[in-house]
Amino acid sequence: MKTIGMLGGMSWESTAHYYQLLNKGVNEALGGLNSARIILNSVNFQDIEQLQRTGNWRDTGLILGHAAIELEKGGADFIIICTNTMHKVVDEISRFTPLPILHIADATAEVLCTANIRQVGLLGTAFTMEQAFYKTRIHEKFGIEVTVPCEEDRAFVHKVIYQELCKGIFSEESKLRFLDIIDELYSQGCEGVILGCTEISLLVRQDDTDVTLYDTTAIHADAAVRLALYR
Ligand code: GLU
Repeated sequence: MKTIGMLGGMSWESTAHYYQLLNKGVNEALGGLNSARIILNSVNFQDIEQLQRTGNWRDTGLILGHAAIELEKGGADFIIICTNTMHKVVDEISRFTPLPILHIADATAEVLCTANIRQVGLLGTAFTMEQAFYKTRIHEKFGIEVTVPCEEDRAFVHKVIYQELCKGIFSEESKLRFLDIIDELYSQGCEGVILGCTEISLLVRQDDTDVTLYDTTAIHADAAVRLALYR
């Protein structure tokens, strides 16, 4: 079994969820007392969030690049960056280490392609919903049209991610508004919605809606388990 290197802490709420999913995935595949081989490097999200907010992506790349070196030194065979947003600096991080990085958007788009999805909605931080690094990658590499909510709804989703979900606050009010936004994306022709922030599936679950949800945390963890065990 390969050792999974987790770049985590962004936030730790979703990293804890990833950790469970990776171990459960390995145990489901191998049975017995088998669990995942993992090295976790968890950064201080306060530092990262402040740099994001001030647009200093260069320094986020430096922090995560150095964290990736530590994963490599610790014996990781490949890396997963446990956040959608920080894939903005995936190229910078990969300059620090020769280890393969399993890209969360590629893993998600592969699932969308298998499901024959041509148009999908995207929820995530404002960075993920508005900048090219995520939705353009999915569009250009996989030919899938990505639709994001209106400006007001994007601002709401972004605020809830940082002010609630990353702090472990899960309110019914926010959940209902997320479900309305998901319905709105469906009414605009989206055949499903990407939960493109690793904390959203802690708030909204598939059982809450008839619209098909693509949970990037679960998809990424599943791809990591398959890479660790079979490829
Ligand atoms: N975990 C979130 C994501 O998947 C947001 C936190 C961050 O900015 O990294 O994008």
